[in-house]
Amino acid sequence: LDDPAGNSFIESIGTSDTRLSKTLYERTREQLQEMGYNVPQANDTHTAATAAPPPPKHGADLPDHLRAANWDFSKSIEDNIDKRREEEESGNIGRDEALFFEVDCHHCGTKGRQDMCAIDIPGFRECLVMAFNCPHCGVRNNEVKAAGAIGDKARRWTLRVTDPEDLNRDVLKSDSAAVRIPEIDFEMQQGTQGSAFTTVEGLIGKIADHLQESNPFTGDSSAQNELSAFTQTIDDLRKLCSDPSCLPFTLVLDDAADHSFIGRRHPERPQEDDPGLTSEAYDRTEAQNDELGLLQMKTEGYEHEQPP
Ligand SMILES: [Zn+2]
Repeated sequence: LDDPAGNSFIESIGTSDTRLSKTLYERTREQLQEMGYNVPQANDTHTAATAAPPPPKHGADLPDHLRAANWDFSKSIEDNIDKRREEEESGNIGRDEALFFEVDCHHCGTKGRQDMCAIDIPGFRECLVMAFNCPHCGVRNNEVKAAGAIGDKARRWTLRVTDPEDLNRDVLKSDSAAVRIPEIDFEMQQGTQGSAFTTVEGLIGKIADHLQESNPFTGDSSAQNELSAFTQTIDDLRKLCSDPSCLPFTLVLDDAADHSFIGRRHPERPQEDDPGLTSEAYDRTEAQNDELGLLQMKTEGYEHEQPP
């Protein structure tokens, strides 16, 4: 197990496990480059220690129509966070208004900063925006999650995608949502993929990428049929967003916790009819309750039992 990041681990058996050994070594130039570090030329030993971090990566921009106090949605999450930090440093907002904490950077392991902020998504509910920034290596990422407890009921969103415009609708898919596209016989169970705030096109692309990366079939001849069905599914998913002849199709987002939503085609015109989109709340099945960890402990019938 050779891990340039140093994040891998094999458990030892007991304290004197002679069959397991571990060697720490300096990363090679190639390993550093593969990990995304900006590595200077070999003869430039002086700047090696003070190399500039890579340029910051830009996260997803939230759409303009998502507005919240102190939050400028015409700018990216990162720009908002930067603005917040400036205000905070100049004393314009109180320290307790800015909710942030230090967490270890998943990329370089030094302390980075995680900011949190609540926003209200029209037609849905309050959501938490979480943005991470590492001042050391420049890594940035962000996440949007529905705030609050699990809903009383499950909710199923059904979107009829009839026009390429529908591919730009906002989607918040929580990790408790199952995704189905009946036209290509596709189903992804809840818990398979983390939460994402994106568009219809972005969601389908993420699912295809995820499948491609997690290909469970290794070229074994007995798995050839499964492999071809698997790659066909990936192709089908990608075609939905690139080939207009695949329209119309249906996207179902079925969330046991009611933490997902699909946005309107024109969110800036909330009065407009939106016949392609429906959502219905329904009572969770026992299996869904189980997945969410909500099954009550069975207490009836035990009250007359005597302890041994
Ligand atoms: Zn870092």
